[in-house]
Parts: sequence; structure tokens; C-alpha cells
Amino acid sequence: MTVQFPGAPPMNAQWIVFTDLDGTLLNRDSYSFAAAAPALQQLASLQIPLILNSSKTAAEMMLLRQQLDNGDPFVVENGAAVLVPEGYFPAQPDLESLGEGSGYLLKRFSDPHEHILEVLADARHCGFTFAGFSDWSAAELAQKTGLTEQAATLAKQRTGSEPILLEGDLASFQQFLAAFHLRAVQGGRFLHVMGQYDKADGVRWLCRAFAQRYAPNPLYTIALGDSHNDEGMLNAVDCALVIRSPHSADIRLTKPKAARYSEAEGPQGWNELLLPMLQQTYPDDEARGASGAANPDP
Ligand SMILES: [Mg+2]
Repeated sequence: MTVQFPGAPPMNAQWIVFTDLDGTLLNRDSYSFAAAAPALQQLASLQIPLILNSSKTAAEMMLLRQQLDNGDPFVVENGAAVLVPEGYFPAQPDLESLGEGSGYLLKRFSDPHEHILEVLADARHCGFTFAGFSDWSAAELAQKTGLTEQAATLAKQRTGSEPILLEGDLASFQQFLAAFHLRAVQGGRFLHVMGQYDKADGVRWLCRAFAQRYAPNPLYTIALGDSHNDEGMLNAVDCALVIRSPHSADIRLTKPKAARYSEAEGPQGWNELLLPMLQQTYPDDEARGASGAANPDP
């Protein structure tokens, strides 16, 4: 085995891959992940967990996980919570149930969505002017975003953040939210009202859970992202893979042992960076099996 890329993992390491969705694994316009298929297939055949980590809601991501045939935990709404399929990890005392029969357990980093809406109602009483996903019907949201009405219905099912359009001064709005330990983070189009967490919280929590699951093998963690809201996630792993986008130059990497930058955007860039790393480290699946790290119960 010849490992040629910088910051390469130890031979017995268990790889864990975290990825942003829009503009990273998904094409920004078509939402297709087809161009990443070779690397996705390689990850699946090597049984390397692929953790989706996005601003999307749990309902939106469950649909995408079906399309990807992905059964791993995932991080929703910019780190508001981690959802873990029941039985995925050995007993986790700090997980709550997502609901009877849902098949998922929840690790929450946010306040409940209802609390965010209460604070926003107070903000309205104090004179701030805005409208958000909870104010609009699915049809209205579809009209504003270009989503289908079905997709808009999924986007409205919030766990712990509320996207809004604010009229007026952002600084005084931020000041108001800070009194409730909330903040507003600019996304592509909407301002996301959320708590003091980000995508990295889910990454760190999952890394601890995976370290237990795969012990004594060490973890080798990789993250792929394309914009500023991925910075914390990219700085929380061993190897940061930055996907080219109109915003990727704003990303400041301070901590990873290794970083790579794609030429192509979206899923093409995802495949461009990840596939050669997998091929160099695991020239064939037999070599992977011999390392004993692919499966905790080989
Ligand atoms: Mg993105």
C-alpha cells in the first residue's frame, strides 16, 4: 500500500467522511449528486460512514438519504441536532427519541423550534419586521424558493432553527437575539435564526461516538464543504477538502493536518478530491479487508 497524499492516515485507521450538501455533494442548480457516483460507490463498498451535514431539515435529509442509500447518522439544520438510526451505536445515554416508531434517536444542540418561534414573536412585538418559513404556507414557500410544494413541506418541518427574511437593521436584531442566546446567520438567501452551535458540534459529538464504535482503531476524519458555514466542520477534522464555489475563497482553515482544494465545483469536485485518496489508500477492496478496519465486526 502506498499512501501519497499529505497528512495521510495510519494504515489501520477507520475513515469517517462528513459532507455538506448544497454546492458540495449536490450540484447547486440541479441538486444532482450523479457526478460523485464513483467516490460514493467506493465509500459504500469500503463501508466508510458518510455523514451528511447540512442546513436542510431532518425530513429533507431523510429523503436524500433514501436516494443515496445511506444508513448513517446525519447532522441537520447547520448543527441543530444529530439524528442517529436506532441501534447504530451502542447505548448512548444522552440521546432522546425522535418519536415512537421513527427509527431515529436525537442528539440536540439547539433549543426546540417552538422556543425560537416564541423569541421571534417577542421580537415582532418589539418592532422588528420579518417573515419566515413558519409564517408561510408550503405553497407560499415554494413560490419564494423555487422548491416544489412537496419539498417546501419538508423544509418547513424544523428541529431548532428558523430561516427568515428580515427588513431593517441586522445589528440591532442580532443584539435582541443575543439576549436569548440566539443569533442570526446569513445563508444563501435567508437569515437563519439559531443557537450558539454550528456544524462542528455534530462532527465532534459523532467523532467521539465513532471512536468508541471502532476502538481500538484510530479514526481518520475527512470533511468536504464549499462555503463559510462549513468552516467549523472543516476545522474539526484531520483532512479538509474544500470544494470550489463562489464563496470557497472565504473559508479560513486553521486546524486540519491536511487540506485540498478542488478545481471543479459541486459533485465533480467532490469526486475529484475524494476518489484518488480512496484509490491510493485502498487499491482494491481485498487490501481494505486485510486491514480489518472497515467493519467493526469483521
Ligand atoms: Mg454548501
